[in-house]
Amino acid sequence: MVDSVKGSNIMDRDGFRDECAVFGIYGHVDAAAHTALGLHALQHRGQEAAGITTFDGSHFHAHRELGLVGDIFASQRIIEHLPGYSAIGHTRYSTTGEQSLRNVQPLFADFAFGGLAIAHNGNLTNALGLRHELVQQGCIFQSTSDTEVIIHLMATSQGQVVDRMVSALRQVEGAYSVVALSKNVLIGVRDPLGVRPLVLGQMGNTHILASESCALDIIGATHIRDIEPGELVIIDIDGVKSFKPFPKTGRRSCIFEYVYFSRPDSVAGGQSIYEVRKRIGAELARESGVDADVVFPIPDSGTPSAIGYAAETGIPFELGIIRNHYIGRTFIEPTDEIRHLGVKLKHNANRAFVEGKRVVLIDDSIVRGITSKKIVEMMRDAGATEVHLRIASPPTTNSCFYGVDTPERDQLLAAQLSVDEMRIMIGADSLAFVSIDGLYRATGHPKRDNTLPQYCDACFTGDYPIPITDRTAGTQSTQSSLLTESML
Ligand code: SF4
Repeated sequence: MVDSVKGSNIMDRDGFRDECAVFGIYGHVDAAAHTALGLHALQHRGQEAAGITTFDGSHFHAHRELGLVGDIFASQRIIEHLPGYSAIGHTRYSTTGEQSLRNVQPLFADFAFGGLAIAHNGNLTNALGLRHELVQQGCIFQSTSDTEVIIHLMATSQGQVVDRMVSALRQVEGAYSVVALSKNVLIGVRDPLGVRPLVLGQMGNTHILASESCALDIIGATHIRDIEPGELVIIDIDGVKSFKPFPKTGRRSCIFEYVYFSRPDSVAGGQSIYEVRKRIGAELARESGVDADVVFPIPDSGTPSAIGYAAETGIPFELGIIRNHYIGRTFIEPTDEIRHLGVKLKHNANRAFVEGKRVVLIDDSIVRGITSKKIVEMMRDAGATEVHLRIASPPTTNSCFYGVDTPERDQLLAAQLSVDEMRIMIGADSLAFVSIDGLYRATGHPKRDNTLPQYCDACFTGDYPIPITDRTAGTQSTQSSLLTESML
């Protein structure tokens, strides 16, 4: 395999970091270029690194690098070094594994059946235990990524590629959407609960797998359907074959995809993300409306919910906060003081629309509360007479262990303070979150089914639908040192 890697920077922020994104294409003369475009559309899901692996009928080719998709794959020279009719790609944040080149996906391994490239969005919750067992058996790991656990489980299984993939995935716990490329087939798999998204698209005889439908739009492909929870698809010259190799369980896809992670122009579970966000805003207005002169979104993710809130209340919607899109993802914010400055660099009050107004601010979530506090201060400095903060998700009281980089629980403001204590800390005149049932209503359900919840909502409820085995075994929080000291 021809492979190259390079390095760059990361940033820190007050908020969730998106997870990762995967993309796969089979049967197109410009497989690498289309994969680069697809990854570019999925850039919001991971901005630390990206990679593409292609197969040209004889050899695999790969390019992986730290940085943004647009920077890495802008060069025609790099695309020309990725020949082939099939490809997979990945953009990443490091939800597990350190931020280094060896963890940049797709990963690649040579098996008895031939080469296999693999990329994964999600997080395996028993990866450390499995890794320990595999190391005891003599496996040598090249990376600290949990994705490599799947590779070693496949290596120690029997049969051809799909048999080994199924055997490996039956041993893992956690959330995953996987794309894998062998010399004959493109494989896509979604975990049994479908926590992380994966969609199927088509363009003529070419089939595509992607984390979100917006990656299909950018290459002119048609969105066929979601890959179902627990479904494995094999794509080759004969088309798409679907299998359900895992015991059937209920669907528990991530409800936060609707709140924040997915792009508003994507469709998930048959629903427009943008429409769901508008409905969350309308729910917020019905649950906790307040007399005010103007509704402002905290850009960009609060915008659809602010539109929904304004439409429901009849209060004018305006852009009272302008975001600078050009501060760059490589800006390093290592301390709280610099983080505060970072908010001012990123956002500015549109003073003419703020002065003398009673303002409702709409945001998607509160994590540490640093950004909320600075923006409320900014509104007051610009002359707002009242500042009311409305949040388009319930209080985030628990960390995610399924592939979203959230702070530890003791860093989550809502895990430490009551809503009124949060209001005082942030400095707002009032603060309200949409209720969990309001959020479910916005996604088309009458309310949360507390017996069989329709989604994963663990970061709001603490109801984790998949065992967090490494965590409960006491290994997750010390993962880095464990990996460094005993497993590498
Ligand atoms: S814990 Fe929250 S962010 Fe994580 S998968 Fe569940 S709903 Fe999504």
